[in-house]
Amino acid sequence: MSIQNNLLEIKASLPPHVTLVAVSKTKPVPDLMEAYSAGQRIFGENKVQEMVEKWEQMPKDIQWHMIGHLQSNKVKYMVPFVSLIHGVDSLKLLTEINRQAKRYRKVINCLLQVHIAEEDTKFGLSEAELNELLDSEEFRQMENICITGLMGMATFTDDEVQIKKEFTHLKAIFDRLSEQPQTLNYKPQTISMGMSGDYPIAIDCGSTMVRIGSSIFGGR
Ligand SMILES: *Cc1c(COP(=O)(O)O)cnc(C)c1O
Repeated sequence: MSIQNNLLEIKASLPPHVTLVAVSKTKPVPDLMEAYSAGQRIFGENKVQEMVEKWEQMPKDIQWHMIGHLQSNKVKYMVPFVSLIHGVDSLKLLTEINRQAKRYRKVINCLLQVHIAEEDTKFGLSEAELNELLDSEEFRQMENICITGLMGMATFTDDEVQIKKEFTHLKAIFDRLSEQPQTLNYKPQTISMGMSGDYPIAIDCGSTMVRIGSSIFGGR
């Protein structure tokens, strides 16, 4: 199967309210261009340096999503062009994104990453930390970021019941947050959950954005 065929097949299977992020980390530009030629415009990368290099070489109508764990000192390199940062898991990181975005007079959309997996290897905020961040005065003052939703990763397992439980948990947190009034920097609308191995379950549980890599580009 070609990248183009994989992409078109997956796209055809997604409900219209679900956005596809083509996760292209480690893959060379010609592979990304094959997906681009098939119509894909949203790409996800997990390393800032690699994303900057690809952004420089590729068409400028691409939306670049940072999906990886992010260090504060790397934020400045992608602020000029990044369209969504999925993995924000601390007030410190959000503060740095806000600070850098201000220098460019931009507002950067961010998803807060919530820890839903059983493994403690996956990053993310606990529910208590999430509430604390959103209730903080520092967050309220930020004018150059906007929280547009949540992101989560399920445990890496074949146990579909477990995966479903974790995604359902994230959806419940999202629903609770959505009841709070929107503000200039708080407009929850996106739940980024689901990867190659578990995206059909994620969609059943209410995902609005899936991040799919190996099922499009092949194994890494
Ligand atoms: C690599 C990665 C993906 C895509 O994984 P696949 O299993 O290749 O679809 C999704 N989300 C994050 C955060 C990733 O790092």
